[in-house]
Amino acid sequence: MHGTRGSIPQPSQTAKYGGNTSCYEILIDGYQIVFDTGTGFQNVKLDLERESFVLYSHFHHDHLQGLPFNSSVFSHDEPIYLSSALVNRNVLRNMIQTYFSGGYFPVDIVTVLKQLKFMNVSTIQRKLAPEIELDVIELNHPGGSMGYSIKTKNGKLSYLLDNEYQDSQLDPLLDFVKGSDLVIWDGMFTEEELKSKVGWGHSSIEQGCIFAEAAEIGHLIISHHNPPRTDAQFDSIANTLPSSKVSFAIQGSEVRI
Ligand SMILES: [Zn+2]
Ligand SMILES: [Zn+2]
Repeated sequence: MHGTRGSIPQPSQTAKYGGNTSCYEILIDGYQIVFDTGTGFQNVKLDLERESFVLYSHFHHDHLQGLPFNSSVFSHDEPIYLSSALVNRNVLRNMIQTYFSGGYFPVDIVTVLKQLKFMNVSTIQRKLAPEIELDVIELNHPGGSMGYSIKTKNGKLSYLLDNEYQDSQLDPLLDFVKGSDLVIWDGMFTEEELKSKVGWGHSSIEQGCIFAEAAEIGHLIISHHNPPRTDAQFDSIANTLPSSKVSFAIQGSEVRI
């Protein structure tokens, strides 16, 4: 887990739970799959021994902005496959080129970095099969966001950022995550905080706990941490979590499935 913070990097009082924005690296045999390139992406080492894939949930800045701040992107000789189930490869290329060029960024990375290869998610699914089964689900977020699951013979992981949970999602989400050893959940807010943030596209810690109990899963990790929340505040909330099935994402930690 390279980036566990939501919305904006948060360097102060967050050494334990993390201050970088969304980025999760999954290593499976010859594959390196990265979910989102928030500021945590600067700490991902692209691995020449594996094929590298980046899958975007959506394009809010906290899920994008780390892409050109990873030095190994510039030195990598092998293709880096970029994709999102939210848009096709041409739209993806245009969005990333717009974000990182012109008046917004000093280097037109899409033109300069020939190793960036933009692909439709259906092509990625075929490239990963049969060793890895990649599935997608539409989430509830302003502008859209897509959840992913990765399933191998050794286990299953589901990634559900960013998402504002609604009761109507219960059955489709339960079905989607069924059998997951690990679910990464958007629990940016507490239930109290969520009251004034309805429509912002994020769920609560409490909803994550309820969902974890209802779902046939091994463990649920709450992430996309609210920027102002300090380590001390997380520690005190962690003591009140109702189940050992739920914990907070800790930046820099690894989970073996
Ligand atoms: Zn986000
Ligand atoms: Zn978002």
